[in-house]
Amino acid sequence: MNKHLLVTGGAGFIGANFISYILSNSNYSITNIDSLTYAGNYKNMEPFQKSNRYRFIKCDISNENKLKAAFDQEYEAIINFAAESHVDRSIIDATPFITTNIKGTFNLLQAVLSGKSKKMIQISTDEVYGSLQPSDPPFIEESPLAPNNPYSASKAGADLLVRSFFKTHQLPLVITRCGNNYGPMQHAEKFIPKTIQNALQDKSIPLYGDGLNIRDWIYVIDHCRAIHMVLEKGTAGEIYNIGGSGEKTNREVIESILNKIGKSIDLVKKIEDRKGHDRRYAIDFTKISQELGWKPSVSFEEGIQKTIDWYKQFERR
Ligand code: NAD
Repeated sequence: MNKHLLVTGGAGFIGANFISYILSNSNYSITNIDSLTYAGNYKNMEPFQKSNRYRFIKCDISNENKLKAAFDQEYEAIINFAAESHVDRSIIDATPFITTNIKGTFNLLQAVLSGKSKKMIQISTDEVYGSLQPSDPPFIEESPLAPNNPYSASKAGADLLVRSFFKTHQLPLVITRCGNNYGPMQHAEKFIPKTIQNALQDKSIPLYGDGLNIRDWIYVIDHCRAIHMVLEKGTAGEIYNIGGSGEKTNREVIESILNKIGKSIDLVKKIEDRKGHDRRYAIDFTKISQELGWKPSVSFEEGIQKTIDWYKQFERR
């Protein structure tokens, strides 16, 4: 029988890309549990919902009683993507971020502790490290946790719970921390989909502050490939940074998209800066490269063109 993964949050952006990737590139079967918040989208699951190696259970990871329904078998691994993921929303109301990102992760760790899964990979973010100055070296796995907004604080809290379950119970747990992803199926509230869709419709494109905040962009399939390698070869208790060698200012990202779509920079409209806006993220991914042999394979130029082509075909709200 095929080994079976429990993927959480597989109706969202990265989770849905990961399920497609795994079904095409391995023999794993997958159970996807997702509570279908505003960020979960049935359409994201269309490409694989008829696969005989896939099933979907609508379930909230923060509800330990309902979660029991998903644990009707022992899993090879839990891959935890489910999260409240939008910084701007966490600034308005952090409550669901605490519930899902911390309590939900805790419930999954309890399931591993009770023998329901052989291992778990916690999908975290570089945002737990806080913000870099222009001349600082990129984040390494030992960089201190210094989250600056409720989203990144809730992800850092979850990471610390994972660490504690590894140290206390010697559970086979791994954390991955990736930079900003872009690619097909991302929700329209996020920076790149919003920029592409507004440009395609000649609507104004909001740009925070001076537009010089830097993110380290990675094409989503490169991230999925890295998680697959961590699943196969990662060492329990370790953290793996995942980066795309793709540092760009927000202004550069918008310029690149407008150039490719053939629209004017005049669409850009500066707006008041985000509260507590991190200035720069950059990721040193030497560890995963040297230990697991992973490196990004899609350049920003190539990935952003694929992403634009996808949004031309499939609108996302
Ligand atoms: P997303 O918001 O697109 O998707 C999140 C999914 O989780 C949605 O389908 C939603 O319905 C589901 N969900 C939310 N709360 C749930 C709950 N209580 N129970 C079950 N399902 C629930 O997010 P994403 O961009 O795909 O991010 C996935 C993961 O990757 C997150 O943990 C995020 O912190 C992490 N991450 C994202 C990025 C990025 O750039 N998007 C970068 C690094 C790490």
